[in-house]
Amino acid sequence: MNLSIEIDSGSGFCNGVVRAVRKAESYLDEHRRLYSLGAMVHNAQEIERLAAKGLQTIDIDEMASIRGEVVLVRAHGEPPSTYDLARRNGITVIDCTCPVVLQLQKKVAAAYGKVHSQGGTLVIFGKKGHAEVNGLVGHTEGNAVVVESIAELDGIDFSKPVALFSQTTKDTEEYAALTEACRQRSAQSGGEFESYDTICRQVAGRHAALARFASSHDVILFVSGRESSNGNVLYKLCHKHNPRTYWVENNQVPASLFRDGDSVGICGATSTPRWQLEELYLHLQAEIINKQ
Ligand code: SF4
Repeated sequence: MNLSIEIDSGSGFCNGVVRAVRKAESYLDEHRRLYSLGAMVHNAQEIERLAAKGLQTIDIDEMASIRGEVVLVRAHGEPPSTYDLARRNGITVIDCTCPVVLQLQKKVAAAYGKVHSQGGTLVIFGKKGHAEVNGLVGHTEGNAVVVESIAELDGIDFSKPVALFSQTTKDTEEYAALTEACRQRSAQSGGEFESYDTICRQVAGRHAALARFASSHDVILFVSGRESSNGNVLYKLCHKHNPRTYWVENNQVPASLFRDGDSVGICGATSTPRWQLEELYLHLQAEIINKQ
């Protein structure tokens, strides 16, 4: 079968994840063992690769039971309680919190101090239970309200000050719609409202480029772990611009997806390493182009 294949030049790990993986690898090269609090990236194959080098993923309960070890905090960041636990247990933290998330945590803590003292609410537009969101909530003494949709604004008192923040990987259009809904409710109730657009520019900037990439190919193969929040957002975006977009894990691509002469675009989430895109490229060449 004749296919032309292109890998999206903007796909691959974001800076925050590249930095965290590099730090982990350089530590493992020397020490051969490192704990990671939570999965370093939402990508099973990359986790397996790092596990083979000695990275062991643990949860917070497991961290509570270890003493004097070295634990990596991933790019998503952690609440202050995690650092307290590390201090109590004599654990050395390799802090790989992305600098962008670190700034966001500081902003959230400062805004929380202000709205809370006036009886108001700090709202985070994010995925409930996501590590970055949990970390942010931890910077508000657990009091931030996490919303995933406009409908969830119903329980919030807009007659008091409301500060709205976003998880770094949320969609900019959805955030704009949520901001507008908050603004209207606040105006109707006579409260104060402030919106802090804290979507990571590296992610937001990719949306327009990825939309162009998706619409300029016949077929899009989107590579990502299913549990990646950013992966879900970017997959939907590609699908909107190209209905022949397929989610790919472990190079599982049936030849029936393609028509002779198709141009195929390969892209992925910010948690998808570049090597997986290149591996898929080689797989298509060997198993579809050369065999069919
Ligand atoms: S998406 Fe942006 S904020 Fe999140 S880890 Fe990557 S670079 Fe940092």
